Amino acid sequence: MVDFNRKYDVLVIGGGNAALCAAISARRAGACVLVLEAAPKFYRGGNTRHTRNMRCAHDAATDFLTGPYTEQEFWEDLLRVTGGETDQELARFMIAESKDILSWIVEQGVCWQPSLGGTLNLGRTNSFFLGGGRAMLNALYRTAEKLGVDILYEAEVRDLDIADGMFLSAELKHNGKHLAAHAATLVAAAGGFEANIEWLKEYWGEAADNFLIRGTPYNRGLILKVLLAKGVQQIGDPTQCHAVAIDARAPKFDGGIITRHDSVVFGIVVNKHAQRFYDEGEDIWPKRYAIWGRLVAAQPDQIAYVIFDSSVVTSFMPTLFPPIAGDTVAELASKLELDPAPLEKTVADFNAAVRPGTFDHTILDDCRTEGLSPPKTHWARKIERPPYLAYPVRPGITFTYLGTRVNKEARMLMQDGRPSANKFAAGEIMAGNVLGKGYAGGIGMTIGSVFGRVAGREAAKNAKN
Ligand SMILES: Cc1cc2nc3c(=O)[nH]c(=O)nc-3n(C[C@H](O)[C@H](O)[C@H](O)COP(=O)(O)OP(=O)(O)OC[C@H]3O[C@@H](n4cnc5c(N)ncnc54)[C@H](O)[C@@H]3O)c2cc1C
Repeated sequence: MVDFNRKYDVLVIGGGNAALCAAISARRAGACVLVLEAAPKFYRGGNTRHTRNMRCAHDAATDFLTGPYTEQEFWEDLLRVTGGETDQELARFMIAESKDILSWIVEQGVCWQPSLGGTLNLGRTNSFFLGGGRAMLNALYRTAEKLGVDILYEAEVRDLDIADGMFLSAELKHNGKHLAAHAATLVAAAGGFEANIEWLKEYWGEAADNFLIRGTPYNRGLILKVLLAKGVQQIGDPTQCHAVAIDARAPKFDGGIITRHDSVVFGIVVNKHAQRFYDEGEDIWPKRYAIWGRLVAAQPDQIAYVIFDSSVVTSFMPTLFPPIAGDTVAELASKLELDPAPLEKTVADFNAAVRPGTFDHTILDDCRTEGLSPPKTHWARKIERPPYLAYPVRPGITFTYLGTRVNKEARMLMQDGRPSANKFAAGEIMAGNVLGKGYAGGIGMTIGSVFGRVAGREAAKNAKN
């Protein structure tokens, strides 16, 4: 039972990886901790439920990682994917801290498993959670409960009482009642605003109505909005986010990993006018898969179709939805409700432009088109073996990058540049400090674990002073 008459040392808002790392870390530092999670217990844990792995630096192979991944290499990868749009000091700090997270997270009850082979190519850089994100979360919750952290579900925080930059209490709704939770310090770990379609529309217009949200419907950005309105400095471009192409038949929220399509490099992608619009063979799939959400978002009605044939159907990870099939390109077009003639022409033009080469999807091979615009620069093979197949795809928003500015203590910075007296942030809500744009697989969990652990420790220290 949570006692709302009591003043806690640390209040953590959120129930995902960042929140639980913060709560455990604060409790281990001797603080009394309350966690408020908006979701019911079954759905606890936000987007973290859907995760599989985390990217951490390490100097040598481990039982679960096939080789070293140095701090410098991690830094170079981050620099490349963000195009330099990262806070160098914070990013380097995060990478250095990530080394220790590999063992720290195990001390909190989480188990790793060796990575699987196949199309992911992450066996050296990323550690995989045994049982996936949900098992990882369950372990963190078990540890938090054992340590005596108070946790309340179905407790959506609606407002924060902040006076002269100082956090005093949080207003929440629970069981139809409006309540106030008081604490000496705050850790905001309530995710991004990806599930708030109205907020997305402020930047994307009506197109956002056609976006699918890959994770939790509870990350609506309420806490982020309140913090920014009450003097916390903003970081990040509100249109920047992690977005991939997912099956257009996926549910509006929480479709998770099984709705993502990894088939793009094996075929062509057309819009609703049956026109190609981007080089499907630009780069190795794990490095470039996250561009396709934005590319589809820019197409008419935010819909596109991955077109391939039966010769490649076993080359990529299967998804929840079967492909749509036709014995001819025209029949496939009809089933997709596309005009058959333009699709036939697009496929014929593509086939005519394909030059012979040696196909190898693990390298930038020499199978390419010539004289086609846009070109397909690698892995181009004719689409000619029926049945012809297609997946309809829409933008699948993973998480947004707009957030609260923080320093190396995970302490929020105020609009006047001063560090906040008692407010800390971790996870998606501050991811924009590290990710100005772009993404490297597994870094979402690194941001949450590293800054969650730091935020909890610093918040506990703050509360004791
Ligand atoms: C399908 C999918 C697969 C992914 N796979 C990976 C992966 O393998 N590796 C990786 O690194 N990243 C992955 N990510 C990204 C990753 O999920 C996030 O970066 C990470 O989980 C963020 O952790 P977090 O704790 O900040 O947010 P979350 O885990 O989303 O937690 C936010 C929490 O805040 C709660 N909340 C929100 N608003 C309120 C409020 N007002 N009051 C109270 N509680 C509130 C939510 O209910 C939720 O519990 C994936 C994301 C998705 C959607």
